[in-house]
Amino acid sequence: MALLVQKYGGSSVSDVAAIRRVAQRIVDTHRAGHDVAVVVSAMGDTTDELLDLATEISPGPPPEREMDMLLTAGERISMALLAMAIEHLGVPARSFTGEQAGMRTDSSHGRARLLDVTPDRVRATLRGGGVAIVAGFQGISEEEDVTTLGRGGSDTTAVALAAALDADVCEIYTDVDGLYTADPRIVPSAARVTRITIEETLEMAAHGAKILHLRAVEYARRFTVPIHVRSSFSDQEGTWILVGRPLTSALEDTMEDPLISGIAHDKSLGKVTAVGIPDRPGAAAKVVGAVAAVDVSIDMIVQNVSTSHQGTSDISFTIPEEDGVRAVAAVRALQHEMGFADVLYTSHIGKLSLVGAGLRSNPHVAARLFGALADAGVNIEMISTSEIRISVITDQQRLEEAVRAVHTAFHLDAEAEAVVYGGSGR
Ligand code: ASP
Ligand code: MG
Repeated sequence: MALLVQKYGGSSVSDVAAIRRVAQRIVDTHRAGHDVAVVVSAMGDTTDELLDLATEISPGPPPEREMDMLLTAGERISMALLAMAIEHLGVPARSFTGEQAGMRTDSSHGRARLLDVTPDRVRATLRGGGVAIVAGFQGISEEEDVTTLGRGGSDTTAVALAAALDADVCEIYTDVDGLYTADPRIVPSAARVTRITIEETLEMAAHGAKILHLRAVEYARRFTVPIHVRSSFSDQEGTWILVGRPLTSALEDTMEDPLISGIAHDKSLGKVTAVGIPDRPGAAAKVVGAVAAVDVSIDMIVQNVSTSHQGTSDISFTIPEEDGVRAVAAVRALQHEMGFADVLYTSHIGKLSLVGAGLRSNPHVAARLFGALADAGVNIEMISTSEIRISVITDQQRLEEAVRAVHTAFHLDAEAEAVVYGGSGR
C-alpha cells in the first residue's frame, strides 16, 4: 500500500464528464488499497474567466486581496464537485480549502510563498479511510487573508502536500503523456521522456518549458519528492522525475556520452542594451544593480566592446517581456550620470535551450547545435551555458523553426506523433 498525492490540472476537470472520469480514476486507486490525497485546479479556463471579470469591473490594477479571494473560488468549485462525484461512487471524500489543509503562506498576494504546511485534516481523512481533496494554488496568510501562489501554482500545492505527508509519489496529471523532448504542439515528432533528473527538469522549467510550475520543481528538489507526470486521459506510464538517485543501469552504459533530455523554448523575453558605456570598472555592476533594484530578474548578460563607439562597451541583457518598461526606465535613469550613448529595447526575443547531462564538457554538442541553427539560417544573438544546458537567443519569429531543426539534428524525433488530449497543456 502506498500513499499517493494526485494533482489534476484544469484540462483534466474541464466539465462534468471529465470530473466523473477523474473521480473514477481516484476511486480505482483507492480500491486498489492506496491512500489518495488529491490536489485539484479550477475547471478548464475558470481562472482566466474570473480574471476577465475582474478586469471588466476594475480596469486599473485590482485590489490584490480581493483578487486572491476571487481566484481561489475556482478551485472551491472543482474540489467540491470532485468530492461529490467520488462519494457518488461509494467512497467517502472530503474537500478542503488551502487554509483547512494547513497551507500557511506569507502575505504577498498573487505570488505567496509557502511558510508551513500542516495537513492534519487531510491526514485524519486518510486515516478514516476516505479520500482528501485539497484546493490547488491557495493558502492563508499570517493575517488570515486568503492568498494564491501564482498562476499554475497547483503543482506547488501538490508537491508541498506530498512532502508534508511523506507520500511515496506525487502524480501530476495533465493532458499529455508526460514530458517530451520538445513541446509537442511545435514538434509533433517529439518523444516522451521516460526518466529525467530533477536538475534537468529544473532547467527545462526555468527556460520556458511549460511542463511544471518552476516552484514545484524547486520544492520537489529541496524535499526530495519523486514526481510522475502523466496523462489523466490514458493509462500510459508518463515521465518519472528522479530526485537524488543515481542513473538507471541502462543509462550508466553510456555514462560518458552526453544525454540530451530535451529542448525548451521561451517566447516571453525582451532584450535591453545600454550602448557606448565608458569602459571602466563598476559599469556592469551599476547597470545590473539598477535593474535589480526595481526587482526585475535578469536572465542572460553579454558585454562586449562597442563597435559603434570607440573605447566603450555595450551591455545587453534579457528580461521577462512584461518587465521591459521598468527595466528600460531603470537603465535610462543612469544614462546622464554614466555618460553612455543610448538605451535600446527589443521585444519578441526567442530563447532556445538544449538540456541534458554532460553538455558543457562535450564541445561536439555546442558545435552540432550551432551547426543546426546555421543550416536553418537562424542567427544567434547571445549564448549562455551551464553544466547541463546551452541556451541561445534568436529572433522570436524563427524560434519554432529553430526548435524543430535542433530536435532533428540531435536525432530526438520519435516514430509516432505525440498525442495532445486536451489543449491547455496542464
Ligand atoms: N487555477 C490556477 C491557474 O489556472 C492554478 C493552477 O491551475 O495551477 O493558474
Ligand atoms: Mg488552471
